[in-house]
Amino acid sequence: MSDAPVIVAGGGQAGAQAAVSLRQAGFEGRIVLVGDEPSLPYQRPPLSKDYLAGKLEESGLLLRAEKVYADQRVELMLGEQITAIDTARRSISLASGGELAYSHLVLATGARNRPLPAPGAELDGVFYLRTLAEARSLRERLGQTRRAVVVGGGFIGLEFAAAARAHGIAVSVVEAAARPMSRVLSVQMSSYLAARHDTNGVPIILNRSVQRFVGENGRLTGVVLDDGTVLEADLAVVGIGVLPNAELAEAAGLAVKNGVVVDENLLTSDPFISAIGDCASFPSSFAGGLIRLESVQNATDQARCVAARLAGKPTPPYNNVPWFWSEQYDVRLQMAGITSSHDQAVLRGSPDDNAFSVFCFRDGAFLGAESVNRTPDHLAVRKLLAAGIAITPEQAADLSFDLKLAAAPPAAAAVSAAK
Ligand code: NAD
Repeated sequence: MSDAPVIVAGGGQAGAQAAVSLRQAGFEGRIVLVGDEPSLPYQRPPLSKDYLAGKLEESGLLLRAEKVYADQRVELMLGEQITAIDTARRSISLASGGELAYSHLVLATGARNRPLPAPGAELDGVFYLRTLAEARSLRERLGQTRRAVVVGGGFIGLEFAAAARAHGIAVSVVEAAARPMSRVLSVQMSSYLAARHDTNGVPIILNRSVQRFVGENGRLTGVVLDDGTVLEADLAVVGIGVLPNAELAEAAGLAVKNGVVVDENLLTSDPFISAIGDCASFPSSFAGGLIRLESVQNATDQARCVAARLAGKPTPPYNNVPWFWSEQYDVRLQMAGITSSHDQAVLRGSPDDNAFSVFCFRDGAFLGAESVNRTPDHLAVRKLLAAGIAITPEQAADLSFDLKLAAAPPAAAAVSAAK
């Protein structure tokens, strides 16, 4: 490696982890972290949960204290944007002017909100929720809000709805698809969540989209749906998915397909550039091909994997078990595996008990599970998937079948203990 630093592009969960892990893995050279947000790297998951609900303050959001970066000799360039990558000269251009050479570049540029191209979206009162700045202005507005409309019944929309109910705000959700969270959840889990929102006074209006936002004196007063329905609202939150920030990579000639394409070592089509986290499209045996994942697990694990490789450690191909979580009201939803292609979903436990799992299969093969308030199921499923141990639909549905034991059979446990 040249004397030039490793540059990490992006100060989100993946970027911050990569920079710190690189040092912890024994890398001795310079590490520069360039992030366009002004704040120190922070956790995004609480933004739509405890932070909005007023249970967590900004100081509790930081991923690491400023001192940690100094101690680990990670040079922070915050509030700074990378405008171009020159792969031939191995350098980046900065918005503030100047260039910076790299020995290796780690793209952790993340994703951005997918904009809703509806008239009136510029009205005061229409919000998105991804960054700390967005969450801060949204939180400030909650105290003056009576009625909110959420556009998109995905992670952001449903978590915001639950947080807003805790503030006593009347909330409706408008979802374009036939059920909420259909991108990631089974029909059974979607129905359960819809019922929980209904019980908490949040109707989810399905198969509808927003035609326009309307307002008075520049301030939002209502949302008009595509069937002409008008929902009164003094606040709207749009959460209709994200787009990967892959333009820099594309302009530099790297392979891009729903994100920056990487191989099993998270290396892009350029041998001096890796990509991790929300912006990376990587091969996964759990997805049966290239996939781009938007989760803390993916960001953290991929960051550690690249850091180890750059520190010269032997690294197996990246193929970690994907897992995700969400919190809505008292529902703790945990998902393991990539289950979207399932053709069979089996219940373990009962939704009536508010503690159950949905196990997903395709052609009889086990893909993963979604769990509500059944963390032991979730943890066992992660172990089963990591070990490549298959279970049958009958075993999944049988509460007397010991999942934990199946995930760590005595023979396997004995072998690992002997090692
Ligand atoms: P999402 O993909 O989870 O949900 C978007 C929803 O909007 C989908 O249900 C989709 O059908 C719907 N939709 C799309 N276009 C629409 C339209 N025009 N009108 C109405 N509905 C429409 O995305 P999100 O909720 O915006 O979340 C953004 C990102 O944040 C994702 O990366 C997500 O994984 C991440 N996130 C994760 C968590 C978590 O893991 N717990 C929590 C919050 C956010």
